[in-house]
Amino acid sequence: MSQSEINHYIDGRITVSDSARRQDVFNPATGQVTGRVALASRDDVEAAVGAATAAFPAWAETPPIRRARVMFRFLELLNAHQEDLAKAITAEHGKVLSDAMGEVARGIDIVEFACGIPQLLKGDYTDQVSTGMDNWTMRQPLGVVAGITPFNFPAMVPMWMFPVAIAAGNSFILKPSPLDPSASLLIADLLHQAGLPDGVFNVLQGDKDAVEALIEHPEVQALSFVGSTPIANLIYEKGARHGKRVQALGGAKNHMVVMPDADLDRAVDALIGAAYGSAGERCMAISVAVLVGEAGDKIVPRLAERARQLKIKNGMDADAEMGPIVTSAAHSRILGYINKGIADGAELVVDGREFDASTSGEGCAEGFWMGATLFDKVSSEMTIYREEIFGPVLACVRVPDIASAIELINAHEFGNGVSCFTESGHVAREFSRRIQVGMVGINVPIPVPMAWHGFGGWKRSLFGDMHAYGEEGVRFYTKQKSIMQRWSNSIEAGAEFVMPTAK
Ligand code: NAD
Repeated sequence: MSQSEINHYIDGRITVSDSARRQDVFNPATGQVTGRVALASRDDVEAAVGAATAAFPAWAETPPIRRARVMFRFLELLNAHQEDLAKAITAEHGKVLSDAMGEVARGIDIVEFACGIPQLLKGDYTDQVSTGMDNWTMRQPLGVVAGITPFNFPAMVPMWMFPVAIAAGNSFILKPSPLDPSASLLIADLLHQAGLPDGVFNVLQGDKDAVEALIEHPEVQALSFVGSTPIANLIYEKGARHGKRVQALGGAKNHMVVMPDADLDRAVDALIGAAYGSAGERCMAISVAVLVGEAGDKIVPRLAERARQLKIKNGMDADAEMGPIVTSAAHSRILGYINKGIADGAELVVDGREFDASTSGEGCAEGFWMGATLFDKVSSEMTIYREEIFGPVLACVRVPDIASAIELINAHEFGNGVSCFTESGHVAREFSRRIQVGMVGINVPIPVPMAWHGFGGWKRSLFGDMHAYGEEGVRFYTKQKSIMQRWSNSIEAGAEFVMPTAK
């Protein structure tokens, strides 16, 4: 099989790195190497930052309406090429094609939001704050900003960042995950076709060396990071030490509470999709089902039946429901967690280790396959409860009432997403108000906020104070300036030595 060389995109063109550092890119369905991605050196980082720095002044001066027009053209191109992008994602990530199409669609939402940038940058104005004096605020772009993104959404997570950053007048450097780097280059090409000036959007392929060089670079003003909690924490601290503005979104352990009064058919559907969709490799995947009272005995057998029937196949197959695990290392890590769950005394109801890879499709025998795993009687001290597994493993915890469910969830170190299935408005309202989690779904298993609402967890799921995209995204990528003005007719003669007050 031919292998592609996957390089950087700097100053409007594909740039081959001088560095010899490369990493294999796999098709997780077959286990075959399909490409080799460059890993940026310090020189590559210098070139990307140089291009972005040079492009910034003219782009920042471009009227917002004209920047929005580039976004509109990009939007048209994205809609036309949605399937190409989705196929590139499935080929390197493994998720099923329909899910990859959904990923691109949720990214497109943010581009649509960014098309409204003139309205978002309008600023505030107060006439006559003092006699003959006005005060207004404007928001100006920061300069060169960087985005460091995880493997699990190679198109959508970058699109949480760059459409807003660019529309607001910044230049942008994307450092995608080296596990599935190709989507980033397709995006770069579409931005180029949309008429974005060279250097405004750049892609640096690479690993932690590239990230460290970006953090240390004095021209980089802000860092948006999405990935695991230890790295998010590290980037937040290092970024702050280097004087950067940082938003760092981390890992998760998302719970779904099922109350005894819930529509159990819907709750089972929701749990199966949210736990095993994208092989559980979503930061908003449900990995813990909190079953309240009699809901437990009713739901667990139904979950088990559905988990065994999942269509686990090559993501390119039209009827596939779950694809492979992203890498063999991730596969081994997930197996380790399943073994640990058994050793810690959880009840293994469905064992994903027994999955027969030959049923996944032609050429899949060497792929990174695993079945769906279901544990019952999991307790809060167990490792499989405390840690993020990031695989197709659902842990069921039994609790007597909603108060215990809330107490359990609030004690967890992560606070990304949470869901509650109930028919009671009172329970739903109390749950939404008392839960210490950033994104809440009521009868919605994966409550990823829409483009204009902003995405972000609480506790160790987000470091920094601004959520991604939405109005917080616009605030993150701009700085506020306040201007007070008066003209000579209203300026009184004489020096003033007291603190100026409104006159
Ligand atoms: P990761 O933390 O391993 O990698 C994320 C990015 O950081 C990649 O670009 C990677 O190259 C880079 N990186 C890795 N190690 C680094 C280091 N030591 N120093 C600097 N940079 C480094 O995460 P992943 O495995 O790609 O993605 C899965 C994780 O991302 C999960 O924990 C998941 O919950 C999380 N995630 C969170 C959200 C969210 O919105 N909170 C969204 C998607 C994924």
